[in-house]
Parts: sequence; structure tokens; C-alpha cells
Amino acid sequence: MILVGIGSNLRDLRGRAPREIVPAAVASFGLYSVELRAMSRLWSSAPVLPGGEGGGDGAEKSDKNGAEKGDENGAVHGRYINAVAEVGWEGDAWQLLSTLHRIERDFGRDRSRERGQRPSPRTLDLDLLDFRGEIIDDNRGLTLPHPEILRRGFVLRPLAEIAPGWRHPVSGAGVLESLVALPSGGAAADLHLLDDLG
Ligand code: ADP
Ligand code: MG
Repeated sequence: MILVGIGSNLRDLRGRAPREIVPAAVASFGLYSVELRAMSRLWSSAPVLPGGEGGGDGAEKSDKNGAEKGDENGAVHGRYINAVAEVGWEGDAWQLLSTLHRIERDFGRDRSRERGQRPSPRTLDLDLLDFRGEIIDDNRGLTLPHPEILRRGFVLRPLAEIAPGWRHPVSGAGVLESLVALPSGGAAADLHLLDDLG
């Protein structure tokens, strides 16, 4: 199983909001020979601010479309739209990651504007979460499984929708047990199904 995490919290150059960018990006996968097999619903999460668990003030600074209202240099961290997709891919994991980076660029992501902010506001973030259970940790820029999966409610929750039987390739932890093990008030606290926001 190949799993891709999708996130967005910045409008693109055409003015589309994150809630529009995420489905549009997934709809474009086929153009890049990435076969869409399953797609979670869209979730809204508070930005994880540097040095903190969750950005409590993100909600007031972003509109309900998940777009930040602050200056376009990303000084304000708006809420994220998150989803997880299962995909099919003919090549290897490095080739898929570089294809995901190309899709990010085609949707207007400009890493040079992110100025090393961690985490940085972004138009589109596509992370390779799991590539058929492969374990890779090398200096060519690919770590598998993605090191943050088990700490992120905004990854685990949509992942549970499309792959409830998934297990972490290294620890063996299941997705549902990992989700309930997240600290309350932590990474899963401010996570809402997009349609529930009204
Ligand atoms: P984030 O970690 O918040 O997604 P970026 O999208 O800027 O931040 O990714 C930073 C770097 O992480 C990229 O240069 C990418 O090559 C590297 N990377 C390593 N492993 C992975 C992975 N499994 N999925 C996505 N990016 C990865
Ligand atoms: Mg990324």
C-alpha cells in the first residue's frame, strides 16, 4: 500500500482556497501517472506552531475555507486542510517523491518563499507516508515511513478512514490504537471534519 499525506493552508496564485486546492491536486494525480485508489474526507487542523503543540490562535486568523488572511509572506499561520490518499505507482519511492514535488510546484508551492520556517505555510504539501512498508533513511532526502505519522492526528484520522487496518512498518502500531494514544489537547485536539465547520 502506498499512502500520500496532503496538506494546504495557503491560497494559490489563482486565489483558490485550501479546501479547493486539495481536491484539485488529487484530481490531477492521474496526469502524473499517480493512480488514485482511495481518498479520505477533508479535515481541518490547527497549525502546529514552532515550539507548541497546536496553534490556538490559528482559528481566528483564518476563514472557514482554511485560507490565511495575513500577509502573503506567511506571517500568519492559517488552519490546514488535510487528507490522505492511497495511490498506485509504477516506479520507485524516489521517483514518486519527485513527482509529488512536481505536483506541489504546479500548484504554486514556492519553497524559496518559505524561508526556512518550520512548519511553513504552504499552498500544497504532499508527503510520502508509507511506500509498501519500505524502510528508508538515507541522505538523498527520503525517509520512509514518514517520521511524523504516529504523532500527527491530522494524518492518523484520515488514514484511519481509508486504511483502518494499517500498521506502522517499524513499530507495528495500528492506526486506531495510535490515534487514541495521542495526548488529549495535543495533535488530535483541534481536528474537525471540514463539513462540520459550517
Ligand atoms: P514537511 O516535513 O513539513 O512536509 P517539506 O515538505 O518542506 O516539509 O519537506 C522537507 C523535506 O523532507 C523535503 O525536501 C523532502 O525531500 C524530505 N522528505 C524526506 N522524506 C520524505 C517523505 N517521506 N515524504 C515527503 N518528504 C520527505
Ligand atoms: Mg512535505
